[in-house]
Amino acid sequence: MTRDPEVVRLAVIPGDGIGPEVVAATVPTLRTALEAEGHRLDVASYDWGGERYLRQGAAMPADAAGLVKKADAVLFGAVGRPDVPEHELVWGLIIGLRQQLDLAVNLRPVRAFPGVPTKVRDTDGVDLVIVRENTEGEYVGAGGVAHAGSGHDLGIEVAVHSRRAIERAAHQAFALAGRRSGHLSLVTKSNAMRYGYPLWDRVVREVGEHYPAVRLETVLVDAMAARMIQAPRSLDVLLASNLFGDILSDLAAVLAGGMGMAPSANVLPGADVPGIYEPVHGSAPDIAGKGVANPVACMLSGAMLLDDLGHTGAARRVRDAVAATLRDVRHHTADLGGNATTAEVASAVLHTMESQG
Ligand code: ATP
Ligand code: MG
Repeated sequence: MTRDPEVVRLAVIPGDGIGPEVVAATVPTLRTALEAEGHRLDVASYDWGGERYLRQGAAMPADAAGLVKKADAVLFGAVGRPDVPEHELVWGLIIGLRQQLDLAVNLRPVRAFPGVPTKVRDTDGVDLVIVRENTEGEYVGAGGVAHAGSGHDLGIEVAVHSRRAIERAAHQAFALAGRRSGHLSLVTKSNAMRYGYPLWDRVVREVGEHYPAVRLETVLVDAMAARMIQAPRSLDVLLASNLFGDILSDLAAVLAGGMGMAPSANVLPGADVPGIYEPVHGSAPDIAGKGVANPVACMLSGAMLLDDLGHTGAARRVRDAVAATLRDVRHHTADLGGNATTAEVASAVLHTMESQG
């Protein structure tokens, strides 16, 4: 298929809850940034999620992956609603789509923007990226419950770590560290777990031999949790399993002001499949429909998307406009202690971008 480099073809899945609200705030931002650079944005929107599940019994169509493969990238809001079992939407949509596209790596940058209040003191200059293995580990769903007589039930969860998955995530992490400060922290728990995490240690060290300019350190996950709060500026790129990456990235988001500030990308480096870019947060039913969700996590996910497609100028415009907007507390949403609405933040970002020319 020939692709027009002037046009970004975006598949948009707004989803449920605050998903459509933050996506609606983000798409015009991406369009304006691209047009300022002489490019165009072409959007195909898909109404997949909870409402579709209630109407048709499935959150997305069977050929969903084929549909989004026509696009250069996917912008995803969130799924989840209280009246639908969580697995129907989470597994039936976002995890299913990630698996069908084989998006093996999840990137979660955390950056403290000047002017944004945080619950942790002294976060100025925090700028790190968590590279999370996205397909296996403790989340493969292997195991079961054994009923060995009353009071003796066993829940057995089997973690699976493959060399292939570790290598894919490790290559991404080393390459990223090489483009940043040249410092990679591998997060494992090899003192207490005997098979999976020692394999991580070994495979990552081997992959590191291809990246002699990157300094690798290995940190136990418990020590990393403490260090992330005590010395977050000592960190640059972190490489972690599915479980540890999940936990640490929520922790890290606090350093940037919370879930409303945390973007992510699901990618398969080196493959010709569209990445899925999404805020780390979920559908947040408690605030959905009120127009008060913070759109920054989604906007920054959009900036990652533009970067990955090579539109680095447009990506910078989005990030710079977000940063400039956040300096003014009048543009902070409730999660940041302010009272701006989603739409007010969106128009402030657009206004900033337009005034920057
Ligand atoms: P899901 O089940 O889809 O994960 P959730 O209810 O767990 O949804 P999360 O997204 O995990 O919601 O977020 C937890 C809480 O953080 C939300 O209930 C909401 O109060 C707050 N929150 C999350 N994202 C945002 C945002 N973008 N803006 C403001 N507050 C947010
Ligand atoms: Mg949640």
